[in-house]
Amino acid sequence: MKRSAPGAALRRLVDGLRQAGIRSEEVLAAIGRVPRHEFVPEPIRFRAYEDVRLPIGLGQTISQPWTVARMCELAGDIDGRRVLEIGTGSGYHAAVLAELGAIVFSLERHGALAAAAARTLRRLGYLQVSVKQFDGTYGWAAEAPYAAIIATAAGPAIPGTLVRQLAEGGRLVLPVAEERAQRLVRVTRLSDGGVEREDCGPASFVPLIGRFGYRRRGEGNCSGRNEPL
Ligand code: SAH
Repeated sequence: MKRSAPGAALRRLVDGLRQAGIRSEEVLAAIGRVPRHEFVPEPIRFRAYEDVRLPIGLGQTISQPWTVARMCELAGDIDGRRVLEIGTGSGYHAAVLAELGAIVFSLERHGALAAAAARTLRRLGYLQVSVKQFDGTYGWAAEAPYAAIIATAAGPAIPGTLVRQLAEGGRLVLPVAEERAQRLVRVTRLSDGGVEREDCGPASFVPLIGRFGYRRRGEGNCSGRNEPL
């Protein structure tokens, strides 16, 4: 399939993100280079350049562009560095990370989504993205440490396994489900071995299901067993 040129719709999306508070010109430019319609199922492609999340099958969603942009901003400078993504989904966020110059490792628990995303990314030439079917709550230890780890699904707590795979100064950006609502959280691994945790506002993501997330779909907050941070 031919890669279509980013058109007026993509430019409007980027302008909208700028107006909605995305400040990083690198991030805006990266979003402006990714043909989002390639990551959206055929019947709803006409909505690909709206700033909304959309269904991609198996009850999962392609993230909202604003959310992707915000998480990339929070990840900091990742150019030429290793980044782990948990929740490949459509592969869209991984493509944006690649456009920012990152060497991307991305884990997806659904084999069918992982395979489809890997195909799309390869077809579009994103060769610096590796996709694997695996429970991302374990991280991808063989490729660690990472300058940034981004989780695109919300768990009940911060998995210590992921924090341990951060490089010094590395950042883990993830949604965490609290009692009533999800919050976007950034955890920075400090040089003295400690961590800094920042609340970055409200979030809305599908559940993180795995060993250090929720054990099964539909289970409540208290069911996720977690290692202490
Ligand atoms: N980044 C994606 C968003 C996908 S939605 C995009 O740009 O399209 C989040 C994804 O996380 C879903 O596909 C879901 O299957 C996956 N997921 C949930 N728990 C997971 C886990 N423990 N490990 C890996 N992937 C997980």
